[in-house]
Amino acid sequence: GQADRHAPADVISDCLPLVRHLLRQGDIEVIRDNSATRQVLMNRTELQQVLVNLLVNAIHAMPQGGTLTLRSRDAESDGRPGVAVEVADTGPGIPAAVAARIFDPFYTTKSREGTGLGLSITRTLVTRHGGTIDFQTDPDTGTQFRVWLPQAM
Ligand code: ADP
Ligand code: MG
Repeated sequence: GQADRHAPADVISDCLPLVRHLLRQGDIEVIRDNSATRQVLMNRTELQQVLVNLLVNAIHAMPQGGTLTLRSRDAESDGRPGVAVEVADTGPGIPAAVAARIFDPFYTTKSREGTGLGLSITRTLVTRHGGTIDFQTDPDTGTQFRVWLPQAM
């Protein structure tokens, strides 16, 4: 689809209403931290799809409640040229054997409501826009997915 310039915080704002029904089921606090001064070059619908996939996974990881942190920031503190959009949860983390496979199509650990396609599609969309996706996970603090996107000039 057509790529345009977007403030990452605006696209995060698009996505929260789409997962509101899931947030209401659990005791999840949402924290937003948007310091990005740069805009990203991306198809807005596809960036929404990326973020919704990450948000749904984060919410699924916290059935007992927790904190969902949505952050957008300039990536230069990591020595990178663009913008980082981060979705972090305080769930149980991802065991190493699972982590090795999460981007595989149809790989899921969910007995229901899981197709295993979310992260596969997410990575395809991100790389198609010249970005990358990675994650940090820890059994004590939870999981943080980071989407690195090129800056719109
Ligand atoms: P699905 O959500 O349909 O299972 P995904 O491709 O979105 O498929 O995710 C694949 C798997 O990665 C999930 O089944 C889960 O095991 C793991 N996963 C993804 N995000 C998280 C997260 N935030 N916390 C823990 N596990 C996760
Ligand atoms: Mg998913």
